[in-house]
Amino acid sequence: MKLVIYWKNIKKMIKLLKLSIGCIVLFSFSLSGQDCRWQLKVRYDMEIDFESEENEYEGEQKLTIFNNSPDTLDKLYYHLYFNAFQPGSDMDIKSLLIDDPDPRVGSRISKLTENEIGFISPQKIKQNGKKLKYEIEGTILFLQLEKALLPGDSTTIEMKYEAQVPIQIRRSGRNNKEGIDYSMAQWYPKLCNYDRHGWHADPYIGREFYAPWGDFKVAINIDSKYVLAGTGYIHDEACYLPTEKKKRKWIFNAPNVHDFVWAADPDYVRNVHTLKDGRTLQFFHQPNPKYDSAWLQFPVIMEKALEFIEKNYGPYAYNTYSFIQGGDGGMEYPMATLITGNRPLVSLVGVSLHEWMHSWFQMMLATNEAKYPWMDEGFTSYAEDETMNYIKSIGLIPGQKSTDRPMRTSIESFVKFLNTGMEEPLSTHSDHYGRNQAYGVASYVKGSLTLMQIKNLIGEKAFRKGMLEYYWKWRFRHPEPDDFFRIMEKAGGIELEWFQEYWVNTTKVIDYAIDTVLENKNQTEVVLKRNGPFPMPIEIKVVTKKSEYLYYIPLDLMRGNKYQRKDDFKSGKQEEKIMIQKPWHWVNPIYKLSLDFPLKDIISIEIDADQQLPDVERNNQVFKSTN
Ligand SMILES: [Zn+2]
Repeated sequence: MKLVIYWKNIKKMIKLLKLSIGCIVLFSFSLSGQDCRWQLKVRYDMEIDFESEENEYEGEQKLTIFNNSPDTLDKLYYHLYFNAFQPGSDMDIKSLLIDDPDPRVGSRISKLTENEIGFISPQKIKQNGKKLKYEIEGTILFLQLEKALLPGDSTTIEMKYEAQVPIQIRRSGRNNKEGIDYSMAQWYPKLCNYDRHGWHADPYIGREFYAPWGDFKVAINIDSKYVLAGTGYIHDEACYLPTEKKKRKWIFNAPNVHDFVWAADPDYVRNVHTLKDGRTLQFFHQPNPKYDSAWLQFPVIMEKALEFIEKNYGPYAYNTYSFIQGGDGGMEYPMATLITGNRPLVSLVGVSLHEWMHSWFQMMLATNEAKYPWMDEGFTSYAEDETMNYIKSIGLIPGQKSTDRPMRTSIESFVKFLNTGMEEPLSTHSDHYGRNQAYGVASYVKGSLTLMQIKNLIGEKAFRKGMLEYYWKWRFRHPEPDDFFRIMEKAGGIELEWFQEYWVNTTKVIDYAIDTVLENKNQTEVVLKRNGPFPMPIEIKVVTKKSEYLYYIPLDLMRGNKYQRKDDFKSGKQEEKIMIQKPWHWVNPIYKLSLDFPLKDIISIEIDADQQLPDVERNNQVFKSTN
């Protein structure tokens, strides 16, 4: 009996064991099913002593790195961005050799003198109190860790460094063209990001950024004549009051951000605009009688803009945001932007909307914008255009009217550029475009048209739903192109992989044409031709003597169409008569469309009459009756 019981127990144990192995397998499957994307976390504790006479500062940095990756890290890389502003730097060489240099840079770096250059020079670096070996190559610092950083573990690196602020060449530096003393972006040793694609230790040549999120505590000791603005929350509001002391310590705390910017000028006027829910918008500018009224009207407009943005793109996750006069145009940072401020109201609002929208796509979603600049600059530009159009529609900018087609100029300039043959694919890393113009058009223009095309493919309602889902699923998680497209195709119930492939990885163009129009008894047969290699669904507007009709031809690869959802059909296109046709198979260059009218009744037939597609040849899209 004992024996029997014993065997029974063993059988039970085997059963349990099998079950638990099953659970482990299931658990690991469900983990990958939930898409556990890991990321490094950081905590920066920094203090600098700033000598404005010499434009130099000494800094101490304590950086704690939390390794949430499955990998053991035995080395670290940091960016030392200020080293780019030295003759012979990678940024200098790139600018000297490129066909179409940024006029703000040109050959200026090559001419910098000893006291005009920028540098960040680490002096002592320690891990757990032990000195570390390091090497500097241009803008990249390489550290060999004394004790490897294990998965799930953390380590703290202490660093002392000296730095010099360059005269302003690009984005950061001293004495910008509007007379702002210090625009302090990319001013500290900053950890490069490590993710599932490895280290991103890109030498700085003046383009895009990517970094892990973390908490920043920054203390700046500086001549008390300066007023400071920056990322995060000021520790002591009394800093904005006069003092007798020669130097003042400013402390900022910024939780869950991936960078820290600050700016300083003795003449800054600070305007704090409090929203109904207690959050604040801060405005810092140098008084200028010509532009002061624009800066006064500015806060109310940004408050209205925020309502529109949050409804369409998700909530702003921080309690304050600062619009700071500084820099060399407009540049985005967490919780703040540096913008040139001597602008009329419409321009001030335009640049600020753009930079603020980056808070969504670069600060809260934060794709690797070096690798996928179109997901940041492009999506930002699209949302900026939409928001600006809304602001104009409610009459907040005197003399400015909204438009039915806010993307019209983007489509036109993109098609114009396509016809130069200089396009490079969206999948190009931002540093590696051959021409600045190709980078600019791809990242900003084609990037923004990405959202326009997707909206056109899946319909307005699905697009809105998808953009909010994208925000909520990927906020603070560094999404990649696949993550975005999968969200949008689910929201639309339409396959988008084919679009992603053609649009992101190739420079193939769209060109649809009306080939022939033939009478066939009481019907009319339209032969449509795809001249370009890029297939898309198309809409054909037919105007007869009695009415107007819209024929929609889906693409077979979509496995659906936007009109299959009754809500979109009813709300968006209620007035129009939409004739949904059988899908056009992508392999076929020809499609025959039959219209139930005799040719004599037809006034015109037009492909893509709303001009939603970046079609490279518009002259072949219209048939006009000669009757
Ligand atoms: Zn931008």
